[in-house]
Amino acid sequence: MAVLKIVSMGHPVLRQVADPIPLKDIQSDEIQNLIEDMVETMFDYNGLGLAAPQIDVSLQLVVMLWGFDENPENNRVRVLINPEISPETEEESKFWEGCLSVPGMRGLVSRPNKIHLKAYDQAGKAFEEHISGFAATVVQHECDHLHGKLYVDRISDMRNFAYEQEYQRYLAHPPEKEKK
Ligand code: ZN
Repeated sequence: MAVLKIVSMGHPVLRQVADPIPLKDIQSDEIQNLIEDMVETMFDYNGLGLAAPQIDVSLQLVVMLWGFDENPENNRVRVLINPEISPETEEESKFWEGCLSVPGMRGLVSRPNKIHLKAYDQAGKAFEEHISGFAATVVQHECDHLHGKLYVDRISDMRNFAYEQEYQRYLAHPPEKEKK
């Protein structure tokens, strides 16, 4: 296991469309080790999710914490391989997003608040789920990485793009509370 280096905005891999992983390769040592290293990296950086392009691997692979409970013990790691998402509502929710590839920044992004997800897990098993709320935002953020998109592309009003420190000082509480 190893903590991998995370690349930052400006690195061209973050703007590429990632390749799907052939299903026969999911169980390979190469992919299984990559998943383990990505999980370790996500925890080391305190991220909620990590997409393979962020560690300079242009494959359709995401690891993320699922549940987003106040109690982190209730959150479990999920692996999404070749995910496909589609919105299930026109209703949107706004959250202040951050990204390990855009360190120290936050931006307010509006996204559909209910989605349908189809993907393969780390055993190569297909699954689908309906996801809503903050988890839907995290899944969309991570899947954007697989299509060369960053959350900063989706900030509709650049006045809502801030340094983390000022976000915590001035912006964190009002918009977060509104949504609950
Ligand atoms: Zn990100």
